[in-house]
Amino acid sequence: MGAMQSCVSPKAALVTLGCPMNQVDSERIIGGLVSLGFEIVPEEEADIVVVNTCGFIEDAREESINTILSVAKLKETGTLKSLVVAGGLAERYRSDLESELTETDAVVGLKDRGRIPMLCRELLACGQTGKTGYHRVVTGPPHTAYLKIAEGCDNRCSYCAIPMIRGPYRSTPQAEILREAEELASAGVRELILIAQDTTNYGCDLDGCSLPGLLRRLSGIDAFKWIRLMYAHPAHFSDELIETIAALPHVIPYVDLPVQHISSKVLKRMGRATPPDSIYSLIDRLREKIEGVVLRTALIVGFPGETDEDFRELLDFISYVRFERLGAFVYSHEEGTSASALINSIPAKVARKRHETLMETQSQISAEFHHSLIGRELEMIIDTADDGNGVVIGRTYMDAPEIDGNLTGAGSVQEEDVFCRVRITGAGLYDLEGDIV
Ligand code: SF4
Repeated sequence: MGAMQSCVSPKAALVTLGCPMNQVDSERIIGGLVSLGFEIVPEEEADIVVVNTCGFIEDAREESINTILSVAKLKETGTLKSLVVAGGLAERYRSDLESELTETDAVVGLKDRGRIPMLCRELLACGQTGKTGYHRVVTGPPHTAYLKIAEGCDNRCSYCAIPMIRGPYRSTPQAEILREAEELASAGVRELILIAQDTTNYGCDLDGCSLPGLLRRLSGIDAFKWIRLMYAHPAHFSDELIETIAALPHVIPYVDLPVQHISSKVLKRMGRATPPDSIYSLIDRLREKIEGVVLRTALIVGFPGETDEDFRELLDFISYVRFERLGAFVYSHEEGTSASALINSIPAKVARKRHETLMETQSQISAEFHHSLIGRELEMIIDTADDGNGVVIGRTYMDAPEIDGNLTGAGSVQEEDVFCRVRITGAGLYDLEGDIV
């Protein structure tokens, strides 16, 4: 009787961990569940929960396991009947999870994720529906969406487990990307964020396709006022791409360029193909050719063998480039990667101190940059409408959602407005404030 009742409108929940790549996978799974008759609810009310995990680094694995265990408790305290574990952790440690986490009912690797919606019906003994094909359901603010343009990665950064988890680089065919983009545009998306492990490598495995060509096609979709490019690996950043970003008004001048380090010795040990002078020259060209460009990077400190001199080079580099946005991580050994076999580990205390010094240097740069924005009028995308306190919260083109800061605009906008203009009146280290004009 219970199973029959829940089959009328079975209730499912998705819990997503990790990066935007995982968020897009979850949105596709939700689309599938909805088309197979599921109602999407909070996990406390669900018959079945899918935990979409990340297995990329130790911290992410720990978070994934803790989440699985806390969701599993709902079998005793809530309505939960079945628990599915999907995503990177499931791909990498499938048999361990199956044997050790007996609370889970199914462990589904990345390759089989398309099967998850139907599997959920089977686990609840709801049988087939005969429906196939489904659309993605965007879960964030309705005007912003990620568009995944490729799967996997062909680079072999020595510290990274992603190629092991997600496999070799496979560009999504352009026609498929454009179809999904049109759907997102019709659903009200105005900021499109292109993602992949390595976006600049797009088209390497397709005839006649490249990222500049794709950007030109996406720019032809009027609804997208902002097209943002994330994870632009420097090794594949062509001059044509620079010129394309500079020329297309809707491709915003925001470049996320993860360089990881600048010392040639460290870059070599990291397995990064771009030597320091090419990185410097690329950044000079980006600054020169793209008006108003904002650069973000990601760095690793404390990589095995990083000397004081290597670290000083890194500090000189960020002082020269003055990245407007920067994230830095302390290196940690990742099981199964070639870097984990390297000798000359940096003592944790030294690595933490270097991280602190780097972030202090960057804070000064960020503060000066933010201060220089005071008095300027900028366009803002509205993420959170005014809930009665006279302010709206959003971002300028200089800030990617979740990763960068926010702009709080005082004043009012029309309910249907997605963008407004704001004069900047105040600046903190990460966030901005202004008046709506
Ligand atoms: S580019 Fe390097 S760090 Fe990024 S996913 Fe590929 S191997 Fe990992």
